[in-house]
Amino acid sequence: METSERGLTEEQKLMRGSCRAFVDDFVAPFIRANWQREWLMDPQARLPAEILLQADRIGIRTLGVPEEFGGVQLDPETEVRSFAVIAEEIARGDSGLADKLVQNWKVSVLLRNLAPRHLQERWFSRLTSDPGFLLAHCLTEPRGASDRWLPYNVPEAAMRTRAVLEGEHWVINGRKQFISNGYDASLFVVYANTDPKLGMLQGTSSFLVPRDTRGLSVARCNETIGCRFMNNGELVFENLRVPRDHLLVEGDALGKAGIYFRPGKIIQAAKNLGVGMAAYERTAEYVQSYVQGGRILIKHQAVALRLADMATRLAAVRALVREAARAVDEAAPDADALCNMAKVFASEEILKVAQHAMELHGGNGAMLDFGVEKLFRDASIFLHMDATADISRLKIVKSMFPRTAGAYAGPE
Ligand SMILES: Cc1cc2nc3c(=O)[nH]c(=O)nc-3n(C[C@H](O)[C@H](O)[C@H](O)COP(=O)(O)OP(=O)(O)OC[C@H]3O[C@@H](n4cnc5c(N)ncnc54)[C@H](O)[C@@H]3O)c2cc1C
Repeated sequence: METSERGLTEEQKLMRGSCRAFVDDFVAPFIRANWQREWLMDPQARLPAEILLQADRIGIRTLGVPEEFGGVQLDPETEVRSFAVIAEEIARGDSGLADKLVQNWKVSVLLRNLAPRHLQERWFSRLTSDPGFLLAHCLTEPRGASDRWLPYNVPEAAMRTRAVLEGEHWVINGRKQFISNGYDASLFVVYANTDPKLGMLQGTSSFLVPRDTRGLSVARCNETIGCRFMNNGELVFENLRVPRDHLLVEGDALGKAGIYFRPGKIIQAAKNLGVGMAAYERTAEYVQSYVQGGRILIKHQAVALRLADMATRLAAVRALVREAARAVDEAAPDADALCNMAKVFASEEILKVAQHAMELHGGNGAMLDFGVEKLFRDASIFLHMDATADISRLKIVKSMFPRTAGAYAGPE
């Protein structure tokens, strides 16, 4: 499709080209030849280390890390648009692999803005020197996620995970669930309540927690419907102690997390677009080669119309993702609303694209070894990531009408 290159800078075109080659030569053939591998019940055995090594070689593992610490920093004027281009391409090969990598970019952006310099030095150098190093961002808890996204800024909705300052250490107790890279990350950003009397916008703080900290346990790896090469995990903190300087933001950590979430939602939508592009490309090829009723499928008009519908939805998602990414790059006042629009719109449109792909593949669309159902499963995950569809819409309307739709619906 020509639209996927239109408006890109030369640097973005080059990066897109090398990601495309990585996916076409390496990722896609691996997934096709090893379709059973995502179902291995040993999470660490699913994705061979060689794939992350290869991602490292083409320089896409440490995006967002400042150059002075050995990372690959993109042109700041167009950084979020570049993230979108690369995330789409990797997800076109495999959405779980993309999840694994983009978590590093997103958390690196947060750390380069919020972490003290000596901790940036320590952790960015670990990240750049170890191709298996992963980062995670831990917000969701068993008793709270959607209300945090809105957020309901009242003490009763605050985080259950608590952090208390004792001398030179913060002591953290609680648990987090559904965390991307939660099973195998080496470093976690953890959000906790540091003042139960306040609403969560004033009473939530964020901390850096290294994996080997005593009191941290990885309780389980969640077995997800899609994006299975990213190991989603659950964490428990029992009297976990981190040094005082591991505090990233005190009190208004949720507000400051916008630096993570704005690019984050663009990246989510772009990965989602990559899944849709893979579904479209595979279907376009199939309907022009598979014969039914004496003619290739595309000669049957109902089939051709569905393909047109897929292409139209993809073009609409791409246009909105680009517009929203540009708004983030330019720090536009409507960037927040556009990010939520792009994320929720992509999740619903691409699921429809993946449904068309499955249906146009007929029985083959339902067979694991054919691989098209994987795209449908991968697409379904996006409905729930970075807020549900309903919560994303509530955030959109809240940002447009903060005084009415944006006010807490509890007692006056
Ligand atoms: C693959 C995957 C990766 C993830 N990665 C991360 C991660 O890295 N870090 C992290 O912190 N979290 C992560 N999450 C968690 C994700 O952000 C949450 O699942 C999501 O925000 C929804 O929260 P919940 O699952 O607790 O659903 P709930 O909040 O329990 O919602 C259940 C249903 O009720 C609705 N609902 C709930 N409250 C309200 C309300 N107040 N008003 C209207 N409707 C409401 C929701 O829309 C939804 O339909 C991940 C989730 C998935 C599936």
